[in-house]
Amino acid sequence: MSVVIAVDGTAASGKGTLAKRLARHFGFAHMDSGALYRLTALAVLDNGGDPSREADALKGARAIDLSRAGDPAIRTDIVGSAASQVAAIPAIRAALHDFQLAFLVKPPGGSPGAVMDGRDIGTVIAPNATAKLFVDAAPEVRAHRRWLELRGMGINRDEGELLNEIRARDHADRTRTISPLKQAFDAALLDTTSLGIEPAFAAALHLVSAKVESALKDRQRG
Ligand code: C5P
Repeated sequence: MSVVIAVDGTAASGKGTLAKRLARHFGFAHMDSGALYRLTALAVLDNGGDPSREADALKGARAIDLSRAGDPAIRTDIVGSAASQVAAIPAIRAALHDFQLAFLVKPPGGSPGAVMDGRDIGTVIAPNATAKLFVDAAPEVRAHRRWLELRGMGINRDEGELLNEIRARDHADRTRTISPLKQAFDAALLDTTSLGIEPAFAAALHLVSAKVESALKDRQRG
């Protein structure tokens, strides 16, 4: 395993942005594991399938097109909700598990470390991660951030509806039987409710840097 920073948390908590910033800071590779579930969901919806049906979801997982990970089409809330449905299917989690693990064992570009964000990275995918963060914020604040983000993409949504969707997705992610969203016992909690991105990043760095620097030194010593 490389030096791994696991960043889990709720929808629109800022975990993705923080994970990317941490990766850039340490020169690590980054993977947004949510994109894998979103790409699966998009493939199911494009095929006219039902995201809660295992056969449709597996067909979608096999059709994942990783080159679309940056495609704004996977960022819509319809795809987010469908992603939450495919993510509750054990066969889908098993299919995506090895892919995520391979990334952490040997990050692309020969990088000494990797940052992965998601819901179960510190609990299931990398329970021995070097450092773990659990990022959360008040649902109203997350809904407002999501509203701003969508508006920036030219999509106008009702903020109240977004809040309901965020609450529904949190509930589905926290209560599913397989790999539910929860804070790992050894993860540091970062509440971004009243933090802008710069203070949130400074706080994240403060929480992980001693562990990461020490693991990097250990690696150098061999
Ligand atoms: O993080 P993001 O909002 O893009 O994730 C979309 C959905 O994918 C989540 O609501 C969750 O159901 C699922 N997911 C997951 N495990 C992960 C990452 C995402 O179950 N590691």
